[in-house]
Amino acid sequence: MDLLTVLVLNLIFILFTTFVFQYIIVNKFTSLYRKNAKTFIIILGAIQILFCMSFTVIGNKDFIFDLRLIPVVVGGLYGGPIVSIMLFITVVLARIPFGGNGIWINFFNMLTITVLTVYLSSKFRAFPLSRKLFTVVAVALSYTVLIFLMKAAVFDDLSNFQFMLLYGLALSAGIFIVTYYIEIMRQNYLLHNAVIKSDKIEVVSQLAASVSHEVRNPLTVTRGFLQMLKDPTIEEKKRLYYLNTAIDELDRAETIIKDYLNFAKPQSEMDSSICVKEEIEKALELILPYANHFSVNIKKDLMAGMNVAGEAAKLHQCILNIIKNGIEAMPNGGDLVISCREMANNHVSITIEDTGCGMSPQQLAKIGEPYFSTKAEKGTGLGMMVVNKIIHEMGGTVNVKSKLNAGTQFKITLPLYNVEKRET
Ligand code: ADP
Ligand code: MG
Repeated sequence: MDLLTVLVLNLIFILFTTFVFQYIIVNKFTSLYRKNAKTFIIILGAIQILFCMSFTVIGNKDFIFDLRLIPVVVGGLYGGPIVSIMLFITVVLARIPFGGNGIWINFFNMLTITVLTVYLSSKFRAFPLSRKLFTVVAVALSYTVLIFLMKAAVFDDLSNFQFMLLYGLALSAGIFIVTYYIEIMRQNYLLHNAVIKSDKIEVVSQLAASVSHEVRNPLTVTRGFLQMLKDPTIEEKKRLYYLNTAIDELDRAETIIKDYLNFAKPQSEMDSSICVKEEIEKALELILPYANHFSVNIKKDLMAGMNVAGEAAKLHQCILNIIKNGIEAMPNGGDLVISCREMANNHVSITIEDTGCGMSPQQLAKIGEPYFSTKAEKGTGLGMMVVNKIIHEMGGTVNVKSKLNAGTQFKITLPLYNVEKRET
């Protein structure tokens, strides 16, 4: 085989195995990879070295040419000193069967390169891309010059200058491409992870910014009314009005903060088992005065003996948020029905239905988005977002059906707690 064919073949193999490595080991078996990263890199590097050395150009006088330097350098730079040393041992041992003085020449050249790689590896990862590329190309060129000088010194052979030039260029181009390729894949991978994380972080930080804004309004209003209360000549009726408004506004600020904290709190342990019927009844007790105030009649149809995993306080919060929305949708009174049943597939369903104002398809599509509210001053638009988050954390789903001016139905499904235990 001629030099160019060999080098292209080597390069394709290195790129292909690096891609497979990133795609399968790093992306699919991430936790396994994290624990054994060095071992995996050594194995990949060794395979690449052995492949390169099986497809080589046997030059004259004990020199064989291939791209084995690339896995040695790239593996060492990304994997660190231990990887470097293991790959050095591999490349030295693999040269032995070819025999000749090349065994020693390879040994000394690779030793030099390995020392250089070990020295660079601690800083390499922090280099910007351009510097990384410059570094690997510089190493490749040094290696080529080293071989050329050896040839000249040991064998007094200055011939084949062109051959060496071609080799040096191919090696540099190869190591450049491989490093660039690894960097792109790494960036893609990091970006992908960052996007997944930022989904939540973004919502939380968005909320944090606007919560402080949202809380400021009620506080300003409260402050204004308290200021006016300072006036000793104020009428009793007005005084009462100011006081009530101030209290309402403070309550509003409290609701906003509570909703927000609920959302931002990290996911809790899921080990306790809670009884669905009991928790719904506790929530109903809390909301009853509010329902009475709006002449809403609450009917319940609750099946006993079903447990789900989670935190009681969070389930309360969900049920309260949904019932509260139902009541607010019926300012002139109406019926609200809440029921819970066991479903066929080891799930519980909790249904909350009202005969209120309902929602248009456009509103329905937006429900659960942070700050989507049709209640102007009275709403926070955080209630349904909190419900969605809590139910998803508990492994359940929330479904909403609604008809404008007819009513709305919320259906929560949750997996039953420890089905096997319950049955025995
Ligand atoms: P908020 O109640 O503070 O407005 P939510 O997230 O609880 O925020 O609800 C968002 C919006 O969804 C409400 O403003 C309302 O327009 C709509 N909505 C929620 N539940 C109902 C319901 N039962 N009937 C009609 N509309 C509802
Ligand atoms: Mg609400």
